[in-house]
Amino acid sequence: MRRVVILLGPPGAGKGTQATRLSAALSLPHVATGDLFREHLAKGTDLGQRAKQYMDAGQLVPDDLVLEMLFERVAKPDARGGYLLNGFPRTLAQAEALEKRLDKGTRVSVLNLRVPDSELLDRITGRRTCTQCGRVFHVKHAKPKSADKCDACGSALAQRTDDSEAVFGKRLAVYRAQTQPLEGFYAKRGLLQNVDGNRSPDDVFKDLKRSASGGEAA
Ligand code: AMP
Repeated sequence: MRRVVILLGPPGAGKGTQATRLSAALSLPHVATGDLFREHLAKGTDLGQRAKQYMDAGQLVPDDLVLEMLFERVAKPDARGGYLLNGFPRTLAQAEALEKRLDKGTRVSVLNLRVPDSELLDRITGRRTCTQCGRVFHVKHAKPKSADKCDACGSALAQRTDDSEAVFGKRLAVYRAQTQPLEGFYAKRGLLQNVDGNRSPDDVFKDLKRSASGGEAA
């Protein structure tokens, strides 16, 4: 049976870090629409160029562009048995489009990471991302071994343009207005599971894994 795990949560909730671990633990490919847009941008594709203006402003990329890119990705052979979604859906229209596309028997889990706003700002503005492999560090909580260099590939680390304090405020407002209503959408379907994201990454991971496995011991 195909299974789809959706990771919800505001910017800075730890979705990227946790999705990487969860994808390995559940043997599901990690599909992050933000990463896909950044890959398009790095390759200089037309889609990347069109998405850039929205991303830099902390706004959502229009649904039609997101859906086209997402559906193309999940049609690949590695996603046949299912996938882990990070950063998608972000609007009700996206959630409805996904629901329509999934086969009836698909097992869907929605894991909602909850973190207080005050904590999110610190996590986002301290975040540094590898310019080559995308690995994420934090200036205080997850320092790279050598300053400004990626532990995994040695490339330069940089702050994402949209991780500045000014753009973060916009992203959080967009999240509250457009993405948070998805909690109600999935709760109504009995699929929403809230997870306290304001704990150590290991504790959060254990809880996510347990929730994704339907409550069985992780
Ligand atoms: P993220 O890496 O998930 O924080 O995404 C970075 C940016 O990419 C977002 O602020 C949006 O501009 C854009 N983006 C990523 N996923 C979506 C989505 N599902 N819908 C609309 N825009 C998205």
